[in-house]
Amino acid sequence: MTSDHRTAPPTVEATPFPYTVAARGLLENESRIAEPLPAAAQALLDGEYDNMLACVRCGLCLTSCPTFVVTGHESEGPRGRIALVRALVEGRIPLTDGLIDREENCLACDACTAVCPAGVKMEPIQVAVRAAIEIARDAGTAPSRGLVASAIRAVVLGWLFPSMPRFRAVVWLVWLYRASGLRSMARALGMVRLLGMRDADDLLPAFTPDFLVPEGQVYPAAPDTRDRAEVALFAGCVMSTAFGSTSHATVRVLQRAGCDVACPAGQGCCGALNAHAGDREGARALARQTIAAFEPGGDAPVVTNAAGCGAMLKEYGHLLADDPAWAARAARLSSRVRDVSEYLATRDLPAMGAIAEDTVVVAYQDACHLGHAQRITAAPRDLIRRIPGVTLRDLPDKALCCGSAGVYNVTHPEMARTLGDRKAEAVAATGATIIVTANPGCQLQLQASLARAGSRVKVMHLVDLLDAATAPGGRP
Ligand code: SF4
Ligand code: SF4
Repeated sequence: MTSDHRTAPPTVEATPFPYTVAARGLLENESRIAEPLPAAAQALLDGEYDNMLACVRCGLCLTSCPTFVVTGHESEGPRGRIALVRALVEGRIPLTDGLIDREENCLACDACTAVCPAGVKMEPIQVAVRAAIEIARDAGTAPSRGLVASAIRAVVLGWLFPSMPRFRAVVWLVWLYRASGLRSMARALGMVRLLGMRDADDLLPAFTPDFLVPEGQVYPAAPDTRDRAEVALFAGCVMSTAFGSTSHATVRVLQRAGCDVACPAGQGCCGALNAHAGDREGARALARQTIAAFEPGGDAPVVTNAAGCGAMLKEYGHLLADDPAWAARAARLSSRVRDVSEYLATRDLPAMGAIAEDTVVVAYQDACHLGHAQRITAAPRDLIRRIPGVTLRDLPDKALCCGSAGVYNVTHPEMARTLGDRKAEAVAATGATIIVTANPGCQLQLQASLARAGSRVKVMHLVDLLDAATAPGGRP
């Protein structure tokens, strides 16, 4: 897309609908920086311009959007966000604090994408606009984050996520913080609240270190397998460490489904958090690392147990589309990716046993990156329904994000808390004693929200439920 859609920056008053509706008020009392976007930022947004133009402003997405549902503001909904970023790319409005806020308030949950009749895809727009904002910040043409926030970003995105040895070391420290009693002491002394870290601290996972370290090992299929298959496991960063026991459970369930499960060395984080935080180059570097790690596996399905990772891996083709050396390799990797529920739906599992002595009511929460981004909603439910003694119930607001969205619940605690509280009420309305989901962030957010509500409902990953139900001899 050429930049001939750019015009000389006019005033807000001169901008026609739809820009005015979302932009009026947003630009009042703002620290305006009227310089044009840096060329690299403009090029990134130009790449999504056709996607933005597809929006016909019908508004069908509004009631699916969590931030619109909570605020009722046009500029906090998909239509407003698209209008704002389109006005920006056309040079009609400048990049201001208000515009950045509205875009960064988006959870990138893709609920709008899932219902849009015009085929607008919000995720790539958000990845592009956040990367463009960072480029403009680096160039000094967008309001800065401040030194502390910039330093934290640099450490987390540039130092922690690209290195699994460092990531594992930090997860060990988190475990030590809980296991040593330091956390209880810090909370009792009010230090956590004093530092403004209460919401983040509530989200810390409770786990026993049981890391799954991918070193090229292969876990063989169950001995009585008839229809043997090979798969490669994408272990991920959080799932292989803080959720290592769920990753081991994933291996066991795949083995029982007749799979030789390879864990290729050299893999690490998928890059989703980098992409959503505006570090597009960091995300692309992690994508290249992942692609190289899985290429020796030929065409074997790449199975993941984290909805966020699966959605990101399936986007590699788009993320690297403009890189001639990697575009085809990225598209090939994306075509191999399967969520674990999507893959298990194609396999024969052993007969399932009961998971409790009595009947049990289970509710299922669609992780946004599974339900909306990957459109996988039936497979997890079908698997749960096959467990004897289980009654499956849907949440009243099943399509609405729980507020997790990667690190959104750390960067936007108020909105995340509001959405989490709504979700806890929805869980209570089902009468379930177990709530199942398929993404680590959703699990932590649900646990924190239910704990705040004083609920005793147990939160489980789908695979842990299936592991219990398919365990030889049963594991009530
Ligand atoms: S549903 Fe699609 S076309 Fe309609 S307003 Fe939302 S993004 Fe635009
Ligand atoms: S991705 Fe989610 S939060 Fe963002 S505009 Fe769409 S529905 Fe709203």
